[in-house]
Amino acid sequence: MPEQGQKIKVAVVEGGMGGLCVAIGLLKHAHLEVQVYEAAHKFSEIGAGVAFGPSAQRALRLLGKETEEAYLRQVTHNQWHEERNVWFEYVYGMGEREGELIATPKNETGQSTVHRAKFLDEFMRLVPKEIAHFGKRLERVEDEPGFPLKLHFKDSTTAEADCVVGADGIHSVIRRHLLGDDHPALDAVFTGSLIPMKDAEAALGERFAKNSTILVGDGACIMTYPIDFGATMNVVAINSSYKNWEGPTVQKAEYRKIAKEFSACGSQAQKLLKLLDNPDTAAWSMWDHPRAPTYCRGRVAMLGDAAHASTPFQGQGAGQAIEDAYVLSSLFGVVDTLEKVTLAFQAYDKIRRPRSQRVCETSREAGVLCALRLKGVNDDPKMFEQNITWRMDWMWHRDIAGERAEALGVFTALLEDGRV
Ligand SMILES: Cc1cc2nc3c(=O)[nH]c(=O)nc-3n(C[C@H](O)[C@H](O)[C@H](O)COP(=O)(O)OP(=O)(O)OC[C@H]3O[C@@H](n4cnc5c(N)ncnc54)[C@H](O)[C@@H]3O)c2cc1C
Repeated sequence: MPEQGQKIKVAVVEGGMGGLCVAIGLLKHAHLEVQVYEAAHKFSEIGAGVAFGPSAQRALRLLGKETEEAYLRQVTHNQWHEERNVWFEYVYGMGEREGELIATPKNETGQSTVHRAKFLDEFMRLVPKEIAHFGKRLERVEDEPGFPLKLHFKDSTTAEADCVVGADGIHSVIRRHLLGDDHPALDAVFTGSLIPMKDAEAALGERFAKNSTILVGDGACIMTYPIDFGATMNVVAINSSYKNWEGPTVQKAEYRKIAKEFSACGSQAQKLLKLLDNPDTAAWSMWDHPRAPTYCRGRVAMLGDAAHASTPFQGQGAGQAIEDAYVLSSLFGVVDTLEKVTLAFQAYDKIRRPRSQRVCETSREAGVLCALRLKGVNDDPKMFEQNITWRMDWMWHRDIAGERAEALGVFTALLEDGRV
């Protein structure tokens, strides 16, 4: 246990978006000693795009000038000026109404995407090399009262820490440690690829290729948006009819299979899908978590996908990890004893759990909406527009600085309760 005046040792398990963001936030507090343990042998990310809504962008700004600047160096918007505030255009992608515009949700930043790998590269530079440990796949955490936590890694090494923040993704060891089980919910197949913009423009026309669109249809939807400052089009084609998935979570996608699964889609979708006939196209199984009863226990907490992995229908998974990281790392500004760590984790759990779990649920519903199967909406364009608008507005307009203030209020109340 740390003696009076000693630094509190925080172990961040992993170096994905959530882990890097929380590490960057924690590093601002001189009374903490932060170490990051990542399973991979170097920080790496799949080469796909990731979209950030306004609340995630606010969290990046609140996390610090350097994170906001890193984001701004990488962000790509819709390429046409008149589309700048558009999140996605939702368009019928099959059937009699093919090509008809259904809804155009807008916000102050419009579609804002980054190339994952390049974005993470920026964030890695904000974490000192000497605190980032690679090839450290966590296997379990030994938690004996009165002793430091002991992290056991697959390479048979161990590390000690006063507390652990687990951001180790959807198949999280920390989640299993906290809950005893990790309740995955398997739902659909997801196929994605990056297409050079010139090929996308040639096949689909400039307007479609350079701005973000979701083609919706019975049981399937296809999202496209520009990344790499407009040099590349990101394609995400989702088939919602899967009930089972065999083999690795991410696999090479066979075009033959894609063509068959999306054969009901209309002509624009078919042109688009043809672009996926390349060796780099990957197929992901999509998972989301049922509600965890807590995000923490004692000196261990989880955030990001480890806590609340979500489907990609609202482009919010990474955003939620960043919001978590901001609130949790801010709370550590007032944590100067180990006893307060536990209270900070509880305050984080109280404020972040309801929001992030609700986001998972609305994302799941948005998937059903985009497959034109949401009860009470189905393929009614007016109902669709109303539904997608309130759904996105609720998510985007969250006051993240207010969440931090609320979490600090909960922390203070717990402290005053005399539990420490
Ligand atoms: C195809 C796809 C598209 C998406 N699009 C969007 C989008 O547009 N917008 C958005 O906001 N979100 C999107 N998401 C969701 C988003 O990618 C995730 O929510 C986000 O990456 C979660 O970050 P994380 O740091 O919590 O977990 P991850 O990014 O999964 O990182 C986990 C890290 O932990 C490491 N790790 C795992 N196990 C261990 C272990 N035992 N020990 C040590 N390290 C370990 C891994 O190597 C990895 O580096 C998408 C997801 C997918 C799959």
